[in-house]
Amino acid sequence: MSDDEAAIAAAWAELIDTARRTAAEGLVVGTSGNVSVRVGDLVLVTPTGVPYDRLGPADTVAVDLEGRQVRGVLRPTSEIPMHLAVYRHTDARAVVHTHAVHATAVSTLVAELPLVHYMTAALGGPVRVAPYALYGSEELAEHMLRALEDRTGCLLRNHGTLTYGTGLAQAYDRTAQLEWMCRLWLTASALPGRAPSLLSRDQLDEVAERLRGYGQP
Ligand code: 13P
Ligand code: ZN
Repeated sequence: MSDDEAAIAAAWAELIDTARRTAAEGLVVGTSGNVSVRVGDLVLVTPTGVPYDRLGPADTVAVDLEGRQVRGVLRPTSEIPMHLAVYRHTDARAVVHTHAVHATAVSTLVAELPLVHYMTAALGGPVRVAPYALYGSEELAEHMLRALEDRTGCLLRNHGTLTYGTGLAQAYDRTAQLEWMCRLWLTASALPGRAPSLLSRDQLDEVAERLRGYGQP
């Protein structure tokens, strides 16, 4: 196996693991959501409508950056327009889309997730909600792209979440953080007559600065 083929096989295995994790950790139900990872000019994507536990090494599906299918026989995810829009306009190496329940609930209530927690800074700033459009449409991809400006994640109104990262682990973690913050805001907002305290933009900028040095050297 050439180095390129080995890299593709490894990326596909990680993509399957990530897609299964979205279901196992309750971020999607059934075949909802989709995952992609970029390897050179190839974009590996989950196939449309196939349960993730049925996917194996022989099922690799890939498209090029113009959306032409270049590997596999299973039809690619219906959300190709969103995934490709992210790769064309950002330095993303992986994209995760889910229908996480708290995030989707928040998408129906506000235009932006209120600054209820400092981890908002990990997504680049206040998380916007993209206006609703039909799933799989170019219109949805356009709305998403606008909501993603200077951010690594957004909500899709009456639909779900989309995040990207330098790899599948980071893209997945951002989705999990976003869902957790949406749950936090809904929980804190649930007491009648009380409203949660919120952070200021200055406080968020300060966090963004500190997060650059977060973790092990
Ligand atoms: P696919 O099965 O085509 O990936 O669609 C799931 C989904 O979440 C559409 O928005
Ligand atoms: Zn969806």
